[in-house]
Amino acid sequence: MSKNQNKTGVYSFFNCIEKNFDKAARFISIEKGLLEQIKACNAVYRMHFPVKIGKEIKVIEAYRVQHSHHKLPCKGGIRYSIKVNQDEVMTLAALMTYKCAIVDVPFGGAKGGIKVDPQTISAENIEKITRRYTSELIKKNFIGPGIDVPAPDYGSGEREMSWIFDTFLSLRSGDVDALACVTGKPVSQGGVRGRKEATGLGVFYGIRELCHVKEDMSSVGLDVGLVGKKIIIQGLGNVGYHAATFFHEAGAIIIALAEREGAIYNEKGLNVSQVFLHLKNTGSILNFSDAKNIENTEKALELECDILIPAALENVIHKNNASRIKAKIVGEAANGPITPEADEILEKKGVIIVPDIYLNAGGVTVSYFEWLKNLSHVRYGRMEKKFSENMNAELLQVIETVCKKRISTEEKKIILRGAREIDLVRSGLEDTMINGFHKIRDIKKSSKIENMRTAAFVLAINKIIDSYEKLGIFP
Ligand code: NAD
Repeated sequence: MSKNQNKTGVYSFFNCIEKNFDKAARFISIEKGLLEQIKACNAVYRMHFPVKIGKEIKVIEAYRVQHSHHKLPCKGGIRYSIKVNQDEVMTLAALMTYKCAIVDVPFGGAKGGIKVDPQTISAENIEKITRRYTSELIKKNFIGPGIDVPAPDYGSGEREMSWIFDTFLSLRSGDVDALACVTGKPVSQGGVRGRKEATGLGVFYGIRELCHVKEDMSSVGLDVGLVGKKIIIQGLGNVGYHAATFFHEAGAIIIALAEREGAIYNEKGLNVSQVFLHLKNTGSILNFSDAKNIENTEKALELECDILIPAALENVIHKNNASRIKAKIVGEAANGPITPEADEILEKKGVIIVPDIYLNAGGVTVSYFEWLKNLSHVRYGRMEKKFSENMNAELLQVIETVCKKRISTEEKKIILRGAREIDLVRSGLEDTMINGFHKIRDIKKSSKIENMRTAAFVLAINKIIDSYEKLGIFP
């Protein structure tokens, strides 16, 4: 039995990350104690607070874990789920540390969790719980623009982030940087354009980059490019829906979508926006006119396809179903969707696994842009948009005069356009995901590492060691 397994031989979620960390540590020559420090959770805040729901007082269990203080603030989403537990929040916080390091976002990792089922609680009660949770964080100095900055995760979104900001501001009135205490806010409340779809778009950019590498595609017997690739996505929430939309728009074929209640399948491809509309209208993806129902939703993961994107929950690919997975590429949009045992089975089968600590880093990357926007108190593009348009107009005029040719008004519109906030955010995200992919790939090749996950961990650990060294903490 490995030291990462418990007495019954089962890996806890946190142990899974430790196991991945340990595999990477073999490629790094640094004192063991320093690696242990990087691995450990720096602070775990477990709380219980009462909230009146209807006529009853309910005791809510919640967490905020700050995994690493090597850079401040700490950063990470808040999960609203009945399955929340300390091990899960610690793991997700650790993943945030490595994720931020890989994509060069200067934060330590953190994560929050509130043990509730948001689907069975009214919006009014979710608001009460969110506001009380925020006050608890404020009381213990676990939130603030330079301390710890939450964001959305599974079961939470813009609405909850607005309540967090409003509660923070009411207790810290006069804090000129209060907007930067939380990210993932609506644009009308200091959010940044492009945050909502950022994680899904990052997943798309990361997989697209992999599909452009001939050597990698040949290794799994696929052609270069995304067009025509058959994709299955699990989870049609924030991450899964946006990823599905971008893949669909790029010419990939979404052959199956899986949700809690079941999955739908059409070999020729599903129209993602139509499925989403159907989901909104009926409350379920099942019985979509142009698809076959699959009652056992997990079975959708085992269908023949090129790329499988789990975008719902952790541990969905495990030792009991891994051998039946037929995808050539698995893109971990969710956090921790593959258990260590399943990881080994897939690796032996030659499947390329694009790891969560890289692939779903788009959300935190754009959260970083939102945090910077809030601290600078100015919208991206405000200072340069008009200037760029004027410069482009002058340049175009010169070219037209020299060439003695006029271009159409439509062409002019495209050429003259200065960058808006959404353009800058998306280009920053695209650049980040492309760079991250190649840094991991370069380490994988130069250190002869067998898979992308271990290479990604090596990259992250080296970056964290660098920042500790800069702080003068490590000799
Ligand atoms: P979400 O709550 O918006 O969506 C999750 C979706 O998964 C829901 O539609 C839910 O019905 C579905 N689902 C739940 N159980 C399922 C099951 N057994 N089978 C199929 N579908 C199921 O959450 P999200 O924000 O999209 O997050 C999804 C995953 O991505 C989580 O692991 C989260 O930690 C990770 N993630 C999210 C972000 C972000 O910016 N939102 C960033 C990084 C990582």
